[in-house]
Amino acid sequence: MEFLIRSKALYTTWVFYKPDRILFDAGEGVSAELGNKIYGIEKIILTHSHVDHIAGLWGIVNTRNNAMGNRNKKLEIYYPQGSENINEYLKFIGKMNKRLRYEIDFREITLSDTIPLNNKRFIKPFKTRHTPGETSFGYQILEQRKRLKEEYRELKESEIKDLIINKKEDILENYTANILTISGDSLPIPPNFAKDCGTLLHECTFFDEKDRKIRNHTSLAELKNLINISKPKRVIIYHVSSRYNSKIKSAKEELNKEFPDIQINIVHPEKVFKI
Ligand SMILES: [Zn+2]
Ligand SMILES: [Zn+2]
Repeated sequence: MEFLIRSKALYTTWVFYKPDRILFDAGEGVSAELGNKIYGIEKIILTHSHVDHIAGLWGIVNTRNNAMGNRNKKLEIYYPQGSENINEYLKFIGKMNKRLRYEIDFREITLSDTIPLNNKRFIKPFKTRHTPGETSFGYQILEQRKRLKEEYRELKESEIKDLIINKKEDILENYTANILTISGDSLPIPPNFAKDCGTLLHECTFFDEKDRKIRNHTSLAELKNLINISKPKRVIIYHVSSRYNSKIKSAKEELNKEFPDIQINIVHPEKVFKI
């Protein structure tokens, strides 16, 4: 299992990304659904302060304190600097759980911060456009990698081996691979943050532009445009309004036809998504 996701616009959103033990957002019901897996979470990374993205935080903090499991594991919670509601909520959680039996770290982050992960990976936040006056971030998981310099890529395998053995030239270069990009609640994110990424998790609250009264979420037409420009390898569409429950299947079929080379999934508003 790589992802476990529950997301229904307005009600609850959380994304568990197992490879890096991250929970992006913590909407209602997350601890009940994850069960023992909450001990596997090392970092909770919040996109913004809306209640459908943070309501489950208290449950996680509390359940990790009471249930059986390894209490030596630290929990880190990251959120955009200046999120007053999150600050207040975390203060409240602290008051209600005075005797925590494990370490918990609350960290406000800015756009110039990076969050280090294991395996040469790190997280970079970027600014999203959601609600005026409210800071909201999307995030990228990036990985430092090495590859052959362009001028060597046409060589035969034996020639490359020769170069490596003789160490005559430095044939490798460093580059940063974009493993995952997550939008949080937002209008379409700037395409460069999703360019060639392994997985793009993007919100699409509205399939039909006409249903959107205020421009603070993404429509399907806008998302298609973003996919066309940024060319991710895989797309997981989440934060869909439950008014489209009966249209999920047909929307997925339509997208698969339009983007045959990209794996596209839609998180059904009423179901836990697993991949
Ligand atoms: Zn939301
Ligand atoms: Zn929101």
